[in-house]
Amino acid sequence: MFCRSFCAAITGVSAQIIKVEADITEGLPMFHMVGYLGSEVKEAAERVRSAIKNMGYNFQAKRITVNLSPADIRKEGTAFDLSVAMALMASFGYISDKMFEKIMFIGELSLDGHINGVPGVLAMVSEAKKQGFKYCVVPEDNIKEAILVEGMGIIGTGLLSDIVELIMSGDLKKHVAKSKVWEVCKGNVYTEKDFSDIYGQHLLKRAVQIAVSGRHNMLIIGPPGVGKTMLAERIPGIMPPLTKEESIETAIISSICGEYDKLNDYIYERPVRTPHYSISQAGLIGGGNVPKPGEITRAHRGILFLDELTEFKRSTLELLRGPLESKKIVHTRMNRSITYPCDFMLIAAMNPCPCGYYPDIGKCRCTPDKIRRYLGKISHAFLDRIDIIVEAEAVRYHSVGDLPDCRERKAVSDTIRDKVIAAEKIQHDRYSKDSIKNNSELNAKQIKKWCHTDEAGSKFLQEIYEEWELSARSYYKILKVARTIADYEHEENILLDHIKEAVFYRSAERKLWHKGGDVIWN
Ligand SMILES: [Zn+2]
Repeated sequence: MFCRSFCAAITGVSAQIIKVEADITEGLPMFHMVGYLGSEVKEAAERVRSAIKNMGYNFQAKRITVNLSPADIRKEGTAFDLSVAMALMASFGYISDKMFEKIMFIGELSLDGHINGVPGVLAMVSEAKKQGFKYCVVPEDNIKEAILVEGMGIIGTGLLSDIVELIMSGDLKKHVAKSKVWEVCKGNVYTEKDFSDIYGQHLLKRAVQIAVSGRHNMLIIGPPGVGKTMLAERIPGIMPPLTKEESIETAIISSICGEYDKLNDYIYERPVRTPHYSISQAGLIGGGNVPKPGEITRAHRGILFLDELTEFKRSTLELLRGPLESKKIVHTRMNRSITYPCDFMLIAAMNPCPCGYYPDIGKCRCTPDKIRRYLGKISHAFLDRIDIIVEAEAVRYHSVGDLPDCRERKAVSDTIRDKVIAAEKIQHDRYSKDSIKNNSELNAKQIKKWCHTDEAGSKFLQEIYEEWELSARSYYKILKVARTIADYEHEENILLDHIKEAVFYRSAERKLWHKGGDVIWN
């Protein structure tokens, strides 16, 4: 007998419907699975056979063929198990497949018939809704994410026999879980980590606010122990809340990465990813034999924080250049390509020299040659992707002595966030007809259109341009950052002060990497 059930396969960050066809005929007993299957899917035959037997049903010794179509989509993972089991149960004649056209079955089977959670359920259920399915049967472990899809009948299940009985009863409606309304969270979910926890560092804190307002990538240079990491952790707290669409995008990525157990608690938070410098290339940008999102995709709509930037392999950092521009990464494997989104803000931190204390000559013991080699680990092309470079001050005794009493700690992140939201709104309104959202995305043509400077500002910029022998790219970068500063200060035109501040954010690069700078380059 022939029966058909439905499941879904994950490609990139979306799902595609997969038909599971089971055909059972008399003949030499065998169990054959076909349809461009990855190794875990091939092993489904053994899991399904054991699960059906251990649930007390007779696994009939017949000639069984299971086909997963369409054949051009590579099927990976274990999410097809339940669908294969249901198609077989119907083919054996234990249940009717009358309702199968309306139901998607998702789940991995244990040998004893229990159903385990699988990654990517949110994307699968969303696709099921688009394709007109009425119900999705999902593992209990995945129910929290599945109920986020409004208007879909979600049935959570932990045991194969339960779902078989449910299909026999025909009363699916009774078992549908209550759906959760996905609301945008307006409040701050980062109250634990406030900007007021960082003492001193006024320049750095200001630079971070500007960077976040225009979503500029940022590099922090400073000696150890000045709170670079602490600051990075507090950045999501001053970013605008995720919109509903953004929140769905990040939740789908978490789900595909298998973090469905904590999904419900975290859907309102912007991700902060802090990969260690020993990370592999595939770990950072994604890909691999069975393609998976890398850290840059997991940081989508949030922060990618690279501490000790110079310790990363140069070849690894170079891979970031493309994604930083295009905000997506394409992996090609076996004639097919998978695209993952990666619209993140890069925050990088590094020491100015191997010992960390340059230019404090009293403390720094590095030779000029050593410093040059150290700084040379970061290419100019990589620096080009960074709009704001700022030096953190060494913590002085009196600024530590200034530490306020804990009881006096006043949250400031909320106030900063309101200013960032206001600056962002100005940008969104201005670019409503352009294809961009933030100042960091401005191209040369748009800069000419939107970055008007006052006379004093233009003059100053012209002088700097000639004196510093700026490249066109650096020149535009200064204008983009100045635009953000003006927006942050609610000024329509870019004024001299804004230009000066933006130029300041390029000065560390000039000092350290430029031939005419403080570090002597040959
Ligand atoms: Zn040093």
